[in-house]
Amino acid sequence: MIQTIVVGAGVAGLVVARELVLLGHAVRILEASDHPGGQVAGHLVGDVRLDLGAEAFATRDGVVSAYLERLGLAQRVVAPLDAPAWLCTATGDLVPLPAVSLLGIPSAPLARDVVRVVGRGGAWRGLVDALLPGPVGSRLPTLGALVRRRMGDAILERLVAPVVEGIHSTHPDRLPVSAVPGLVHNLLRENSLSRAVTRMRIDAPAGSLVASLEGGMTSLVDHLVADLDRFGVRIEFGTRVVEAHADRVVIDRGDVQLEEIAGRVVIAAPGLVVDSQGAPGETTETHLVTLVLSASGPHVSALADAPRGTGVLVARGGTVHARALTHVTAKWPHLRSALEGREVVRLSYEHPADADQALRDAATLLGSTITSDAVEHVGSVTWFRAQRLVPTGDVPVVGEQVAGTGLAAVIQHAVETARSLGAPGDSVSGCTEGTKKENVA
Ligand SMILES: Cc1cc2nc3c(=O)[nH]c(=O)nc-3n(C[C@H](O)[C@H](O)[C@H](O)COP(=O)(O)OP(=O)(O)OC[C@H]3O[C@@H](n4cnc5c(N)ncnc54)[C@H](O)[C@@H]3O)c2cc1C
Repeated sequence: MIQTIVVGAGVAGLVVARELVLLGHAVRILEASDHPGGQVAGHLVGDVRLDLGAEAFATRDGVVSAYLERLGLAQRVVAPLDAPAWLCTATGDLVPLPAVSLLGIPSAPLARDVVRVVGRGGAWRGLVDALLPGPVGSRLPTLGALVRRRMGDAILERLVAPVVEGIHSTHPDRLPVSAVPGLVHNLLRENSLSRAVTRMRIDAPAGSLVASLEGGMTSLVDHLVADLDRFGVRIEFGTRVVEAHADRVVIDRGDVQLEEIAGRVVIAAPGLVVDSQGAPGETTETHLVTLVLSASGPHVSALADAPRGTGVLVARGGTVHARALTHVTAKWPHLRSALEGREVVRLSYEHPADADQALRDAATLLGSTITSDAVEHVGSVTWFRAQRLVPTGDVPVVGEQVAGTGLAAVIQHAVETARSLGAPGDSVSGCTEGTKKENVA
């Protein structure tokens, strides 16, 4: 049987590989680094594992929940604190994000919590949205263009941009509207962007908009790797693919000689495909600093009540360098009890930042004195994230660069791609998950 080569062992690669195995493919996974998971990675603080990359998944559409159920992980899903995130405005004010909003797009532009951020003039401009016919702006390519057209600059730059940058690491002017599934559909249905937001919030599954896994999102990676191992699929680490074609790849294992391997190829790694202009996708850098604070000191009582809910998104223009802060131990109650009084905050930056900078930003954003002797542990990591592109060529591509940011989008797209590739000719087409597990056990 012709083998199928999956390039990259991030979540997209692991998911597509598992689905293809279940469809009867003989799969080989090539991974450049020495570990699986890509942007889903963790580190241990004592015996508690903290996420260093993705820490949650979007619950919208129930895609990831259904997938976790198939993997037998449904019992390990944990919900975050039910409290809003906050916004640090360009003038340094700290305010809760508007109660009913989607990526910062308000459902009620004149609500007091919106006026507080965008000013009265910005809020009135936002109201114009309700007077415009639904199709106005609906064909614009980016979220930024759509929001600017319907609600104006103030709502876009002061409210939507900090939220989008905190989540997608890019300005809404560079985020395709398709990254917010259902938004245009609901805009046309409701004839207003603000009413579309209300509709989408009403239609969202009950409970919070995100969830995580006990043991961190890396539990998902562990589980997928263990499953693939059971199916006889090994990940070949330290194997960088330097060229990918539909029927072969060229690899570099660090030896003098490059090697060619034949097989059907699925790309689940950035940098190997080009768009219609012949350009490889852009990457953005995100620098994360995680601070683990001791269980004693003046910060303890100040942080115990989650003073900024789950965390703070930061608008450009102020004195704080971080783009976002997650109050990890407030957001995830199961971690707070496991860490026995220690507090964890995680800050993300566009440019490298050291622990002192992170400490200053955390103190400002949390409104609390945090002294350097309270810091028990610092974790720093830099992520290179692939921006979205429309690939040309005949090699199937999965992962963030085509599906968009986030585990929900990546998992759904990887499952659908595997199904569209189907069974490999004469193999066990149509076998169910259960029967394949029996076959390979
Ligand atoms: C700090 C941070 C926080 C995040 N938070 C969340 C969150 O809370 N919720 C959420 O849903 N999403 C979050 N995300 C986004 C989410 O993690 C990603 O969208 C998703 O993990 C991308 O998976 P992927 O498999 O497409 O890519 P990656 O995880 O980037 O995997 C690509 C893999 O390919 C390998 N590779 C690269 N080049 C080659 C090559 N030439 N040959 C072989 N292998 C190669 C890489 O080493 C890597 O293992 C976050 C991301 C970051 C960085």
